[in-house]
Amino acid sequence: MLYYSTQNPSHKASFKEATIKGQAPERGLYFPETIPTLPDALFKNLQSLTKEEIALQVIAPFVGDTIPHGVLKNIVANTVDFNFPLVQVDDGIYALELFHGPTLAFKDVGARFMSQCLGYFMQNENKKVTVLVATSGDTGGAVANGFYDVDGVDVVILYPSGKVSSIQELQLTTLGKNITALEIDGTFDDCQHMVKAAFNDFALADALFLTSANSINVARWLPQQFYYFFAYQQWQQKNKPPVIAVPSGNFGNICAGLMAFRLGLPVQHFVAACNANDAVADYLQKGKYAAKPAVPTLSNAMDVGDPSNFVRLLHLFNNDHHSIQKILSAYRVSDETTKKTIQDVYAKNRYLLDPHGAVGYNALQQYLQGKPAGAGIFLETAHPVKFYDVVEPVIDNAVPIPKAVQELFCKKKKSIKMNASATELKAFLLERK
Ligand SMILES: *Cc1c(COP(=O)(O)O)cnc(C)c1O
Repeated sequence: MLYYSTQNPSHKASFKEATIKGQAPERGLYFPETIPTLPDALFKNLQSLTKEEIALQVIAPFVGDTIPHGVLKNIVANTVDFNFPLVQVDDGIYALELFHGPTLAFKDVGARFMSQCLGYFMQNENKKVTVLVATSGDTGGAVANGFYDVDGVDVVILYPSGKVSSIQELQLTTLGKNITALEIDGTFDDCQHMVKAAFNDFALADALFLTSANSINVARWLPQQFYYFFAYQQWQQKNKPPVIAVPSGNFGNICAGLMAFRLGLPVQHFVAACNANDAVADYLQKGKYAAKPAVPTLSNAMDVGDPSNFVRLLHLFNNDHHSIQKILSAYRVSDETTKKTIQDVYAKNRYLLDPHGAVGYNALQQYLQGKPAGAGIFLETAHPVKFYDVVEPVIDNAVPIPKAVQELFCKKKKSIKMNASATELKAFLLERK
């Protein structure tokens, strides 16, 4: 399996090259040259397979022969080493809980998979790779946790100052060792632009052997397909495939779901659940894409004005707006509705949503309105405790703090402040080399 660059289809790379490089030249993203066909037996026997077996069969064609099967099997087993339960919340509405990993958000799967692949690829290199990553909140913690103490890998995380939750900030600023946190005076989009500028500076990228751990990186992006297979495995009404609502920011997760759909997974429809950052919702309505400045919201991990993975959405469906509209709808959910959804679902169903899950829940509800027999799943992408400062006043109740989080509060934040400037980032990176 080779990957082509969305900027230049004649530029090709193996899974190994794409993982090490992160981004393709000229700000392209790597995309699989062919959509693999999965064995029929996988779908037929899904019920009786373990999550490790499912994940291995799904990812193996994308990895090809760049990682020996036995090694990949271990990587996958370590990646999905926690639960992904499907929980009924209301009539016809189910939550796929993706927050049972070490940093309490869905990004643990991609980060754990990628860090192990990169660790494997770097084993026989005698240089260090620097993972440069921008985070809107949860990526930072997941990447810090996944890469902590991995030999041969240095990690630099950029996050927007004051725009991540206190738990998110502690998760990415307290580890130390090979993890450095840069606190940027700007938005997530600023952080993302700085990272992209660094990758496009060939002298810099070469000198530091830079790679990305955002969902730009195929090794972060592709394992997210697992969720959709796990969801379908637990879905009872196999004759009526689920509608799946995905709280979306950079559109990596939902594009992984759409890739799973292209592999043959039965899904009736996808719903992109957006907050006020609605560039893709506009595209679906108008057929024209225009990036927007990011707007801060309560669901901060989705505050993305120019989603990196939008281009992958186009490549999944040969740039055909009509095919995209057939399988994908988008709904916008305001902060006010997000709070009201958290409140209502807690009062009625005694289920506590986090702000991202609430956007997903409400978008699913909007899509199912007027479809009496409709049923679907929303992805609950983070544990509500991660956003206790938002959630507690809304439900007027305390959220129990898990022990792992209590321990975080005893640790000391360590970050380096920086302006939203690509030049400053470059100087910093060269200086510490
Ligand atoms: C990252 C994140 C999202 C958005 O996922 P994308 O792949 O960027 O669309 C949604 N919810 C939470 C909790 C996240 O951390």
